Amino acid sequence: MSARTLSRAVRLFVQSPLAEAAVVQLSTAQTHHLASVMRRQPGDSVLLFNGYDGEWLGRIRTIARSHRATVSVEAQMHKQKPEPDLWLLFAHLKRDATNLVVEKATELGVNALLPVVTERTVAPQRANVERLTAIAIEAAEQSERLSVPLIHSLQPLPVVLATWPHARRLYVALERAPVPRLGLGGLLRAEPAALLVGPEGGFTPGEVDLICAQPFTCPVSLGERILRAETACLAGLALLQAY
Ligand code: SAH
Repeated sequence: MSARTLSRAVRLFVQSPLAEAAVVQLSTAQTHHLASVMRRQPGDSVLLFNGYDGEWLGRIRTIARSHRATVSVEAQMHKQKPEPDLWLLFAHLKRDATNLVVEKATELGVNALLPVVTERTVAPQRANVERLTAIAIEAAEQSERLSVPLIHSLQPLPVVLATWPHARRLYVALERAPVPRLGLGGLLRAEPAALLVGPEGGFTPGEVDLICAQPFTCPVSLGERILRAETACLAGLALLQAY
């Protein structure tokens, strides 16, 4: 298979186990995408991944608009490998900003996204986990990831802090605070990590006190400029991921 053919192969996330000679049935949406948008036909190749069996080359067996397409699994292209152990906690934002954060955080390698409610959160009090997971799947497919990050349902920040796994360091983005700059010096450690970003209105002083009182938190600055929450998420993740 030439590099050119591979670069054009459609990559799809599936729920089924992947192994040589397995036959996988695609979803109705995937079938529609392959048949009507990508104009694929029987015999065309696709790449499949499920989050635990690595990436496999498959060949379309049947594809008709009225039925779910089937794909025969042929050969493993990549073994499963661990993603960076990085979580993102973010104060739930308005719909478009949340969509952007989920898509870009997936591209930047996070393996869990935890939307949280803070005192100044103005976004809806419910996160549509199904819609956000669909966005994460699409971003994982196009960014050649081998897994899809887990999207948690919305939780109050104090609950997340109270049940936090202490071995995971939580870097908290605080603007206008005399705290070290993320990514500089010996701040980053080789251990499971997470980034917390506040809402457009920032954290309240009470929340800052609560956050800083936790033994696992590490307040950090992202520079002199005040960033929009979604920019802060992506800038912070890029710095953590570079490590
Ligand atoms: N309205 C607030 C700014 C909030 S910015 C004010 O004017 O003070 C939204 C979130 O992005 C903040 O809660 C913080 O987590 C993060 N953030 C933005 N700029 C930052 C910076 N320079 N350093 C660290 N965190 C930042």
